[in-house]
Amino acid sequence: MKNLGYYNGRVGLIEEVSVPMTDRAFYFGDGVYDAVMCRNNIPYLLSTHVNRLFDNCHLLGITPPKTKEEISHLIKELVKLVEGEEKFVYFHVSRGSGIRNHEFTSGVGNLCITIKPQRVDDVFKKMDLTITKDLRYGYCNIKTLNLLPSVLAAQVAKDNRCEETVFVRDNYITECSHSNISILKNGELITAPANNHILPGVTRAHLIEVARENKIPVREQNYTLEELFSADEIIVTSSSKLARGVKAICGKSVGGKDEEGLKLLRDSIYNSYIKATTKAI
Ligand code: PLP
Repeated sequence: MKNLGYYNGRVGLIEEVSVPMTDRAFYFGDGVYDAVMCRNNIPYLLSTHVNRLFDNCHLLGITPPKTKEEISHLIKELVKLVEGEEKFVYFHVSRGSGIRNHEFTSGVGNLCITIKPQRVDDVFKKMDLTITKDLRYGYCNIKTLNLLPSVLAAQVAKDNRCEETVFVRDNYITECSHSNISILKNGELITAPANNHILPGVTRAHLIEVARENKIPVREQNYTLEELFSADEIIVTSSSKLARGVKAICGKSVGGKDEEGLKLLRDSIYNSYIKATTKAI
């Protein structure tokens, strides 16, 4: 298949599988999601992402319709049906179904999965970023379907021929529209703390781990817009970007002062991905 849509047991092309109007994702964005890259039909870090989905369900009182093992197994089977070496797997659980009423419905959630061919980004290509105000609410730590501010911010990037938009809250950098952002300064990795203003990315956690393994001190603390512009390097992370350097923000050149540090972190993360998704012969 060229792509795949799954909804509560039904499988077809994404363009053809339909979702009933009773699904609470439709009216309220009442659900949580996650996404993984997949290469050679091996979904990368799947259990970490499924665990995060279940943690997020728990935080919102959503009951997943299947166990972690069942969802992981299902994803591993479904990826085999889609053509291509690299794929992007998206999965969400909405709270459930009912006639539109704000209060919770009872019963288990609805499971939706989409799979499409997609390569990870060219990690060796540095990014152009733009900036917008972070006007989001206090649940940014939960990967919910409510993504309007991220959608608007991603469009700001596109309109400015950039690949990502940095969110700035009260002069502090939080994250980007759909990735985390960290800086290297004087040999240290600095990244916004994992509080309710950012999504604690799986790749951000991996970046921190790799830095520590390589004796690069890590500070999880807020940093300002000025510190972003004067950073030695800027690193944007997400499951589909892995870790990428940055060359300009709003057209102004940035980074380029710790190529060695950037290369170490970026390449370690890229190599882990390649290694974990290479089939044993
Ligand atoms: N921050 C936001 C707002 C995101 O939407 C995402 C990914 O979708 C990330 C960060 C990166 O998270 P991960 O590394 O788990 O893909």
